[in-house]
Amino acid sequence: MPESLAEIFLALHGRTPRIFHAPGRVNIIGEHTDYNDGFVLPAAIDKEVRVAAAARSDRRIEVTSLGAKAKAEMDLDDGAPRPRGDWSDYIRGVAFILESEGYRLKGASLVVASSIPEGAGLSSSAALEVSSGLAFLSLADIELAPRKLADICRRAENEFVGTRCGIMDQMAACLGRRGRAMLIDCRSLDMDSIPLDESRVSLVVVNTMVKHKLGEQEYNQRRTECEEGARILGRFLPRVRALRDVTSEQFAKFKEKLPEKTRARCGHVILENERTQAAAASLKTGDLASVGRLMAESHRSLRDAYQVSCVELDLLVNLARNMEGVFGARMTGGGFGGCTINLVAPESVDTFSERIADGYRKVTGIIPEVYQCRTADGAAELIAESAM
Ligand code: ADP
Ligand code: MG
Repeated sequence: MPESLAEIFLALHGRTPRIFHAPGRVNIIGEHTDYNDGFVLPAAIDKEVRVAAAARSDRRIEVTSLGAKAKAEMDLDDGAPRPRGDWSDYIRGVAFILESEGYRLKGASLVVASSIPEGAGLSSSAALEVSSGLAFLSLADIELAPRKLADICRRAENEFVGTRCGIMDQMAACLGRRGRAMLIDCRSLDMDSIPLDESRVSLVVVNTMVKHKLGEQEYNQRRTECEEGARILGRFLPRVRALRDVTSEQFAKFKEKLPEKTRARCGHVILENERTQAAAASLKTGDLASVGRLMAESHRSLRDAYQVSCVELDLLVNLARNMEGVFGARMTGGGFGGCTINLVAPESVDTFSERIADGYRKVTGIIPEVYQCRTADGAAELIAESAM
């Protein structure tokens, strides 16, 4: 039997820890909209990061990641810690931003375990940030609103790690709820909790197992293109601060003002925002066929207009489209590899999982991982620890 995280911590540090956890998430629709102040529709899932933690008497942070099989340290009194370019930046970044916001933390020993595949678009990074952030705060007896913690973790990733991610992942890790998807307004951080009836629909995530190198550079370029588009459209539409402020009617009227590539990128974001809100409304009324149609449009747009898909993602989506019991399928996450999200009728999940893995392997020679996910609650302390 595998040792539980608490037992591992006890063996390493000779003390019984407190355990904190934060979930990964899958985004049902609303891709590349978050950094345009737009809408996203993720759900937290039952894959998570767990952090075992105990306070120390000094101001040192000492972290062991079981997944990375590595250790890292940090001194909370170091006023200007430098990123090291490795996994520990996510944790040290959170501690640093919390301290610089005036939250006085305690030194701590941490052991991290995770069931979220890393770099697959299921948000292992935000789960790591949020679970360790919650551990730091709890050990120091500080209570923080979940939205505030989400914002601090996003800042850690933007300002310390150096990834220009939006707020979706941290919001889902902090505020996810079992049985719910969440429509998030990435400008106001308002959230509409949408029931997801898991007796009618299952979330099945399929991992291409590839990650193309272009990803990060292209991501930053898309952000620049979106900013450029918003700036140009803003000359004609004075109230426009971000693409979020442009309606599809306005876009139709002024799109000729944009260079061709920028026009395609902006078109994706503006219509994706409308699709996301429409999908949330359809999910509310249980109209899964409409959600599926919107997901198909979203994928086409990400493939052709935003150009962040890849042959492996397209293959998985095409395979899924013709399978029994599938309401909708599309790439999820930043693109250039990673995963697809599939909404599948519960009775079809096993056949779907088998067939899609088979079909993908036949063409690519790669065996994909298939995750049958349940929705989950956001970050919290685990009171009764169970084996992981
Ligand atoms: P995603 O968030 O989609 O999984 P990212 O590239 O944003 O992908 O984050 C992945 C990175 O997060 C990993 O490369 C690693 O540095 C860090 N990470 C995630 N989980 C862990 C873990 N359990 N231990 C150490 N580092 C982790
Ligand atoms: Mg991430």
